[in-house]
Amino acid sequence: MITQSTVLYKCGMRTNIYPLEPKTKDGQIELSAEIETPTGIRSRLWYMVPEELGENLTGSAEPYIIAAIFAAMSTKANVHVHGTVSPFLIRNLMEYQAYWYANSPAKYNRVEITADTEAETDVFPDMDRSICAFSGGLDSCFTIYRHASGICGRLKRNIGAALFVHGFDIPLEDESAFQRAYRTNQDTLKSVGIPLYTVKSNHRLLFTDWNETHAAGIASCLTLFKRGFSEGMIPGTYCYNDLAPLWGSNPTSDHLMSSRNFSIFHDGAIWNRGSKLYHLREWQTAYERIRVCYSNIQKDQNCGRCGKCLITLLLINMLQLPNPCSFPEPLSKEIFEEVEELDEVHIEALETLLKMGSRIPYRDELSNLIEENRRRLKPKKSIQHELKQTGERIKALFGKPPY
Ligand SMILES: [Zn+2]
Repeated sequence: MITQSTVLYKCGMRTNIYPLEPKTKDGQIELSAEIETPTGIRSRLWYMVPEELGENLTGSAEPYIIAAIFAAMSTKANVHVHGTVSPFLIRNLMEYQAYWYANSPAKYNRVEITADTEAETDVFPDMDRSICAFSGGLDSCFTIYRHASGICGRLKRNIGAALFVHGFDIPLEDESAFQRAYRTNQDTLKSVGIPLYTVKSNHRLLFTDWNETHAAGIASCLTLFKRGFSEGMIPGTYCYNDLAPLWGSNPTSDHLMSSRNFSIFHDGAIWNRGSKLYHLREWQTAYERIRVCYSNIQKDQNCGRCGKCLITLLLINMLQLPNPCSFPEPLSKEIFEEVEELDEVHIEALETLLKMGSRIPYRDELSNLIEENRRRLKPKKSIQHELKQTGERIKALFGKPPY
């Protein structure tokens, strides 16, 4: 006889999510929830949304369970939401966990999810309206470009709004940088008739492993707007033929944060960064203002010296495109002397570029830069480390927990 397992972990301790009553203050609606770890430590996750956007906001607890999924997976205790959650979303989140467990079994577990009420919420069957995450970077500008222009053919979405989150790439305390970036982004989107919404959230401060948790943060913010939209779009980072499995946003796991009445769509994974830049030039307003930097002190500007700025400048140079106004200067030999220390993600991306052969400019400078950074990061991955990881993956496939 086949026995059926109903729970993944049977211990009494669990992660609890308690949605709190929304509050309105100074023209902002605050939506929040307390997240209690199995050991009883509580933290408050919050989102602030301008009052005039209130009619779009869901009353369900779905944004909170999406936001907290990595925290839940980091424990060996089930999670209970003291609110209403779509059973379709819960089922998807079980598969979402399977993806992360299979790729990182030493770090993540699979946990059962339950809610006080499991029911589909915000049911508007005829709605066909998307809201797209937008930071002003290459990926989000390109997504807006391909849908607004219709070059994506049948894939074209009806984008009713874009969403810029304060607290993700621009820290909460830097209000003036956010306002400057907001005005630039708003103006860019105005040229294609798309309004820009904003949300402020402390998500990133609570779930700090940002390379992995960022897509859950984005999907959570998009899901807040479930009453006014049927789909949330996440502009893709990597191309299908060059995926990074441990990068939070990817075409395999992003859509597994969908509920029945609000799907999450990972957009544009057929394009690589070079092709995006090449085509985006057609939309000059966006091309001249792209903001890709992660390390400038002025958070709304490109430094021209970090890994991401360097990758973008190399592609611009290789494709013989004009230098966008948003970069302080075009690529030159001197810039390689000033590039800051690179992390693994950017070294790998630069190594991929180097493999393009003679088409890539400044090959000698680039290869020296990679070598220096590789030396600094050594030892990167020993054979023992690789073997341990493989062993963990095998255990994940054949070991507990069930299903
Ligand atoms: Zn930079």
